[in-house]
Amino acid sequence: MPMSQEFQNRLFPGLPQIARHFGTPFHIYDETGIRQTAQELKTRFSPLPATFQEFFAVKALPNPSILAIMADMGFGFDCSSVPELVLSRQTGARGGLIMFTSNNTTYSDFQAAADHGGSILNLDDITLIDKLADVPELISFRYNPGPGRTGNEIIGNPVEAKYGVSTDQIEDAYRIMRDKGTRRFGLHTMLVSNERNHAYMVETVQMLLEMVDDLSAALDIEFEFINMGGGLGIPYHPDDPPLDLTAMADQIIGVYQQYKNRKGRAPALYMESGRYMTGPHGVLVTRAINRKDIYRKYIGVDSCMSALMRPGMYGAYHHIDVLGKSKDTHAVEVVDVVGSLCENIDKFAIQRPLPKIDMDDLIIIHDTGAHGHSMGFNYNAQLRPQELLLKSDGSVERIRRAETMADYFATLDTGAARLDV
Ligand SMILES: *Cc1c(COP(=O)(O)O)cnc(C)c1O
Repeated sequence: MPMSQEFQNRLFPGLPQIARHFGTPFHIYDETGIRQTAQELKTRFSPLPATFQEFFAVKALPNPSILAIMADMGFGFDCSSVPELVLSRQTGARGGLIMFTSNNTTYSDFQAAADHGGSILNLDDITLIDKLADVPELISFRYNPGPGRTGNEIIGNPVEAKYGVSTDQIEDAYRIMRDKGTRRFGLHTMLVSNERNHAYMVETVQMLLEMVDDLSAALDIEFEFINMGGGLGIPYHPDDPPLDLTAMADQIIGVYQQYKNRKGRAPALYMESGRYMTGPHGVLVTRAINRKDIYRKYIGVDSCMSALMRPGMYGAYHHIDVLGKSKDTHAVEVVDVVGSLCENIDKFAIQRPLPKIDMDDLIIIHDTGAHGHSMGFNYNAQLRPQELLLKSDGSVERIRRAETMADYFATLDTGAARLDV
């Protein structure tokens, strides 16, 4: 089931009041659920015979209130842009708890990543070595195994993926850094997205440990950590089996134990999960405002793709509830649930059987806690909605206001920049 029964029990009774007070639409996140998932991840990996450290992927839900929860759970942050670095540092995190994994990076990005207490630089390409501001004490490279592995739908086949250092170049990359004077090393990869098959993650850890052995032997260097990336999947559809986190952790721990028995030591295991940590703990709440009956039946709601891109962008399924109605007790109607954008992909659901919707009904779109609000855009001058947090003490706090027209027009204040040519 996408949204947990516990989250429903915490949210649904007070939802009409929350909607009246704050107005719709909004994403609302569940602090209790986020903390439970964070704790479960830590508990499952606690028997690992090496350090385990999660770096929350900031892009999934870049809100300071959420990042504060992650910091409180002991997690670090995975960043890929300067604003994400700034957000992460605002939690107090520094140096070893910030990974800067960049793609197509500039010199000034690297400077920002090195400044203010630094971060772990994770380089995406061998040529980026020349863009570093200084020789860092610690370096990591993102490895792309190419034909050595298969990827999955969202992230694509590794051979076609723009990310990472190829198998041919990886040894040279570490050799160059070693010869420049870097003494501490990590190895990173990120091969899948929204993958619910835990065997894939176990294979990735195995692959990284083998790579560490090869590189250590060839270059006489030691690795402090491997980073298995994110990409842990969640069930968006009620029929999707969930990722078996226990089996994943147990098998990775088994791989680590064997490795440690053979080598006498093992590198720390880093993970940078985003979706799995917050995805199921958020929903988009929107109100039905129009009904249209032409060749198909349409329910128009008061939000659109600016709040949630995944259905339009990936054809992703997001489960939908109508508050107070169930398909068992109400007449069922097959509808498209749509936003107001002049784009026919602006649909939250296509030909979905739902309990018959009346105007002003509250519609709950599940699993928007990751890559939801953060992916939103402003096409058609549509503004992004507010974000709320359902706190563990039962209160609800607005943690980001809705965008206003003034926000949208702010970039038109160009400082009258002009050039006569
Ligand atoms: C997006 C991303 C993640 C997080 O992915 P999830 O699917 O949200 O777990 C982690 N690492 C890198 C490098 C990413 O680009």
